[in-house]
Amino acid sequence: MKALIAGGAGFIGSHLCRLLLAKGFEVICVDNLMTSTLDSIATLMGRKGFHFIKHDIRVPLAIGGIDYVFNLASPASPIHYQKRPIDTLIINGTGTYELLKLAVDNKARFLLASTSEVYGDPKLHPQPEQYWGNVNPVGVRSCYDEGKRFAESLTTAFSNEYSLDTRIVRIFNTYGPFMRPDDGRVIPNFVNQALKGRPMTIYGDGLRTRSLCFIDDLVRGLYLAAISDSIDVKPINIGSGDERTLLELANLIKALVGSSSDLKFLPALEDEPTKRKPDITRAKQALGWEPLTSLEEGLAVTIAWFSELRSLKEETTHEYPR
Ligand code: UDP
Repeated sequence: MKALIAGGAGFIGSHLCRLLLAKGFEVICVDNLMTSTLDSIATLMGRKGFHFIKHDIRVPLAIGGIDYVFNLASPASPIHYQKRPIDTLIINGTGTYELLKLAVDNKARFLLASTSEVYGDPKLHPQPEQYWGNVNPVGVRSCYDEGKRFAESLTTAFSNEYSLDTRIVRIFNTYGPFMRPDDGRVIPNFVNQALKGRPMTIYGDGLRTRSLCFIDDLVRGLYLAAISDSIDVKPINIGSGDERTLLELANLIKALVGSSSDLKFLPALEDEPTKRKPDITRAKQALGWEPLTSLEEGLAVTIAWFSELRSLKEETTHEYPR
């Protein structure tokens, strides 16, 4: 089996490359390195069955013999997509369109990596796939939210018009090794701040919630959604049901690191979901999937990874300018 993974050098994409190689797939990793580096796939370069192509998915790609197309190509961290809103929209629009055409030409199965952001600031909790969401179309996060909503719609249109075999996976907050220390998301920030003994920045009162899934569980969910013949996978939530407040998360990381960092409360960011937790009933029933790694176990692995990275090179933590 041959899989093309667009965004394959990104955090989730690189883990998917490793999983598919381990499953015996030939993997074509496509990435323009807009928000990633080759560090995440350095150990895969030159490995049998692995190919890297530096390419922007907004430009048509002609490759044959592909069985699966995975579209994970998009800026995904709020600081990255808010810095490049037009790129984010067009990558999710034109880029997804080009990859869908490639899947049609190859008669390949197509998996769209969508996001819990399609639910916006949800009025329904936890969020099932049937929920249509509460998105501000002109807010600071709209480039990503609406970009992914458009990508879901386009994927559905290709499925209907061309009978393309498609999957739409809504990915909830995920963390683990190979996240960029400067990507601004909550786990890299808290872990690196705790490791350096710097104040841990909490935006808002600390009572906002997120449910964090360890990367190994997440990519196993993506893989199962891709290979499953269940029709119940458009769309499907993949994420953890272990919901924590930011305050709980900061204190847990501080304790696991053994850090003496203070907690620093800053104004809440604009247009952010106040709470988020997936309803994963569908994933359990359709794929037999559920997370296997506890937050404490996953964080221990992640802290060890960032700690080793820090000893290799001094990295900065990105915080929003105030
Ligand atoms: N957050 C925080 N401090 C940080 C980074 C993030 O309090 O240093 C909060 C952020 O405001 C949000 C939550 O953590 O409420 C998750 O943010 P992240 O950027 O990881 O992802 P999101 O779920 O917002 O896309």
